[in-house]
Amino acid sequence: MTQSRTLDDRYGRTARDLRVSLTDRCNLRCTYCMPADGLEWMPTEQALTDEETIRLIRLAVESLGIRQVRFTGGEPLLRKSLEQIVAATKRMRIDATPTPPTTALTTNALGLARRATALADAGLDRINVSLDTTSPDLFTRLTRRDRIHDVFAGIDAALAAGLTPVKVNAVVMPGVNEDGILDLVDFALDKGLQLRFIEQMPLGPRENWRRSDMVTATDILARVEERYALSPAESPRGSAPAALWNITDGTRSGTLGVIASVTHPFCGACDRTRLTTDGAVRSCLFSSTADEVSLRDLMRAGASDDELADAWAQAMWLKKPGHGIDDEGFLQPERLMSEIGG
Ligand code: SAM
Ligand code: SF4
Repeated sequence: MTQSRTLDDRYGRTARDLRVSLTDRCNLRCTYCMPADGLEWMPTEQALTDEETIRLIRLAVESLGIRQVRFTGGEPLLRKSLEQIVAATKRMRIDATPTPPTTALTTNALGLARRATALADAGLDRINVSLDTTSPDLFTRLTRRDRIHDVFAGIDAALAAGLTPVKVNAVVMPGVNEDGILDLVDFALDKGLQLRFIEQMPLGPRENWRRSDMVTATDILARVEERYALSPAESPRGSAPAALWNITDGTRSGTLGVIASVTHPFCGACDRTRLTTDGAVRSCLFSSTADEVSLRDLMRAGASDDELADAWAQAMWLKKPGHGIDDEGFLQPERLMSEIGG
């Protein structure tokens, strides 16, 4: 067995949270994430197989100190073997302790209605559904597909399967869905969902983001306070990116998260490491392709687990202190969000 160690960097951070992109493909085309067309999918032989994916997750959990594994993409529900990969992950044990890792999924929820129970049975612990509007018309414009009712059905199925608390991620875009912020809060309070608003990041098609136009966390909170009372939630924030608020309208209450990735970056407390669909380690969403290390190529050249662990640790050691979105000279990463795994 590989000697246990942790994925540390030069700035005192240790990665505990692994995000695995299971595919670069998607059945939606959210404007802030993907172009309408012209995006070529990765050829199948370049993507990690199930066995390769599970081998790398096992290495991360059993020998490199990872405690939570989140599956993402592209759309992870498009990976037919998702349930098997979740189940295999849940059979792993953190650093030779009896404890399995926490498993989580970030999804657009298309097709979730049919699979929520199987995913819960496979050992999925947490789910985040992306939904940026409650308006069917706006959803169709925003995702370029008329599928909002599949998302609603997916959310209901996740609640019924006990994948609670179901979190809903909403990216707020200037002039697009900012007027729907209060409707989203209303929807979340009605259904008992934990809503998290996210500042839009420069990761999608380049023409879609301008720092000066951004809807910031401060703007979002001001809108919410037009109708709801907010008070800071008590739970310690730690490395979690969302600032949490208790929210109530006097009758209903819940928790609201706001993720200020651009205006209040949480890079100093970041505990994430990422595996792309083609098996590259990325220490940050905003890394450049030149900083990636292909564990797939090493694996396919016959590398041992110790050699893979060394390469992973080396890639993380070089993690930059921050994403620098607000710095002059910031360069958007070459890969789109859907290719990296959000
Ligand atoms: N397809 C799945 C989904 O939509 O949940 C998983 C992949 S998606 C890339 C992961 C998350 O990234 C989603 O919550 C999505 O809203 C978010 N995202 C995509 N592009 C973004 C951007 N430019 N800024 C902020 N969040 C973004
Ligand atoms: Fe697909 Fe998720 Fe990107 Fe939307 S945000 S296009 S659902 S990968």
